[in-house]
Amino acid sequence: MTELPAHEAVNQYFAEAATILDLDHELHAILTTPYREIAVQVPVRLDDGDLIVARGYRVQHNGARGPYKGGIRYHPTADLNEVRALASLMTWKTALLDVPFGGAKGGVEIDPSGMSQGELQRLTRRFTNGIQHVLGIYRDIPAPDMNTNAQTMAWMMDAFSASHGYSPAIVTGKPVGLGGAPGREAATGRGCTYVLDAWCTHHGRALADQRVAIQGFGNVGSWMARELHERGATVVAVSDVRGAIVDTGGLDVLGLVALVGSGRSVVEAEHGDVITNAELLELECDVLVPAALGEVITDDNAERIRAHLVLEAANHPVTPNGDKILRDRGISVIPDILANAGGVTGSYFEWTQNIQQFTWKEERFTSELLEKMQGAYRFTQAFAEDHDVPLRQAAYAIGIDRVAAAVKLRGYI
Ligand code: NAD
Repeated sequence: MTELPAHEAVNQYFAEAATILDLDHELHAILTTPYREIAVQVPVRLDDGDLIVARGYRVQHNGARGPYKGGIRYHPTADLNEVRALASLMTWKTALLDVPFGGAKGGVEIDPSGMSQGELQRLTRRFTNGIQHVLGIYRDIPAPDMNTNAQTMAWMMDAFSASHGYSPAIVTGKPVGLGGAPGREAATGRGCTYVLDAWCTHHGRALADQRVAIQGFGNVGSWMARELHERGATVVAVSDVRGAIVDTGGLDVLGLVALVGSGRSVVEAEHGDVITNAELLELECDVLVPAALGEVITDDNAERIRAHLVLEAANHPVTPNGDKILRDRGISVIPDILANAGGVTGSYFEWTQNIQQFTWKEERFTSELLEKMQGAYRFTQAFAEDHDVPLRQAAYAIGIDRVAAAVKLRGYI
């Protein structure tokens, strides 16, 4: 079976959910195409004097419910189709969580591994200058994503502020010393654990009994692992770009966090067996968490997944063909737009604090995040049961319905 390109795949999920809503064809056309896409040239002078010329994108998918919102990724696969797909996911995610944002995404098609801080800073400033005319604190607010972090956001904020005045609310996921919200960095990974906890409660299981394998040990994967570990669950495997490490008795999560924090790979850990990323996905465990790249569970490997539940911490990790195979095999999936929505929910908390020039304590941030994530899970679960559909179809339908209502109220068509 051929796999669809990412944007067409997201639109296939959209079309399946739209059938529940009986959406008319005009709305269908508005909601499956982005409002605006820009592509910019991003020249970067390397430390050795060479010049590379990368391509950068910002796609604003739908802004009916609020300013465009979505992360910026630096990755060789971050082409226009991928960024378009990720932007549309943000529209359904912000609507599902009922935070007052639209959906957007940005990316620079580049491999940042091995780039110095100076090179990354020049890249970020050049990209920000190229897209700044479509950004704004009530227009479009970026955040970190793959291979970008709080430092990247600080540079973006500075580049934007140079021409627009001091604007901390222009990006979220900033360093705490620069208007970042205590708790935001951990929000996506913690949010994944809160959703898993709610899923366990609904299914009469205990979070502490779950054996979890996580692909990716960056921001999302490592914070989810920490939260799981604190709550007594067993993290049996984690990975990064170099490979995976497994210990069926449970990994030393805090040791791995320290190892990766010192710039090394999880495969260099003292305890555990080294396996490949492909083998991690097929491990026998309760919960499999893709938390790195997209399109890692496809019709090539879905037959061999042995977890009972796949929790999509990454964006678009399961293709429509892979999703169908998992469904036919009775493996549940918690979709990305629900599972990893702790990131944008935390970004919403940070943005509101920046606008009010007021900072919450981390305890308040975390308890509001917990309430929002578990509330969204319960709402989606109830919708899925009412309509007898999988969680993904329910999550999309809820999001689409809210965006469609805003589009009509604002008179877009
Ligand atoms: P990150 O850059 O902090 O970490 C990415 C991790 O994936 C690293 O451990 C890296 O080594 C690993 N990785 C990279 N290439 C790989 C490969 N080919 N095979 C296996 N592992 C590989 O990124 P992140 O912010 O943790 O984002 C991870 C995923 O979560 C992405 O899909 C992103 O869109 C999604 N997400 C992130 C946030 C957020 O707040 N950061 C929010 C929502 C969703």
